[in-house]
Amino acid sequence: MGPEVGGFEQEFADYHHSRYCVGVGSGTDALILAMRAIDIGAGDEVITVSHTAVATVSAVVATGATPVLIDIESAYYTIDPNLIEATITKKTKAIIPVHLYGQPCDMDAIMWIASKHGLRVIEDCAQAHGAVYKGRKVGSTGDIGCFSFYPTKNLGAIGDGGAVITNNKEIYERITRLRQYGWDDNRVNQEPSAVSRLDEVQAAILRVKLHYLDVDNNKRIEAAALYNKALVSKEWELPVVRSDCNHVYHLYVVKLDDRDKIMYKLSMANIDAGIHYQYPAHLHSGIMRKALVPKKLEATEKVVRQILSLPIYPEVDVASVLKAIEDLE
Ligand SMILES: *Cc1c(COP(=O)(O)O)cnc(C)c1O
Repeated sequence: MGPEVGGFEQEFADYHHSRYCVGVGSGTDALILAMRAIDIGAGDEVITVSHTAVATVSAVVATGATPVLIDIESAYYTIDPNLIEATITKKTKAIIPVHLYGQPCDMDAIMWIASKHGLRVIEDCAQAHGAVYKGRKVGSTGDIGCFSFYPTKNLGAIGDGGAVITNNKEIYERITRLRQYGWDDNRVNQEPSAVSRLDEVQAAILRVKLHYLDVDNNKRIEAAALYNKALVSKEWELPVVRSDCNHVYHLYVVKLDDRDKIMYKLSMANIDAGIHYQYPAHLHSGIMRKALVPKKLEATEKVVRQILSLPIYPEVDVASVLKAIEDLE
């Protein structure tokens, strides 16, 4: 919590044209502290998706609140705004859109519903650093944006780290307190809290790497374009980018019917394709008992059987992956 953390917070806030940034210990902590900062806890409901990293949903459970899990838009893999209003109750406090795989959610629709019902919006940006929705970086449209700097993320440290961004001074001050002993500016405890600091060494590395975030994202976008061009002739469903958005391809995900067979064959060719995610969050036993699933998640349950993530990162050798795919036939 020295000059590197302070410097990074300033630079990460500036990158988003946001007023404030608070560095924390992980992306999960960013979500938990964001919810705690707006007094979300036992008895409250938070609407999000089941098709996400389990961390999104387990963070809601960790606050004591009840996750209410709804379906996704199958083409974009993000929360279906048309399903939100039917699940709002008197207990609903917030919506957590997840910009999954690097694809921005339909923020206009989400913000409209939130403002109509007096709900907060906490953006889970752990897979979408630098993604753009209608000219605005993700994380800067909702009340709070939450980021992870786990090493594999688009902006990764060499260990754990996370951050929240916000334009709201009260939320900023509360999260600053909650990340360290519940301390106020005079180091007097004001409320019980955990400790979740961004480490000085991680911040120093993130300050250097932030300069390369857009460059690295562009390399991912170029790799995705090469995949798109080569795979268009196959009967696979390729990623669709929401209009007026920049998808930053944390993952390059295709849908195909013989997914398991293709994944196995690629693994035999030393190509490390993956499934994100094999289980919708509501099927994890720890969450199943705590979450509400008001309506069958038809799109979610269908896509988890079809999705395959091809290797993507700034240095990925697309040609060798494509060669391996060609050799499958
Ligand atoms: C990685 C991730 C998280 C959690 O981040 P950690 O730093 O690992 O705690 C939360 N949400 C999503 C969508 C993620 O991909």
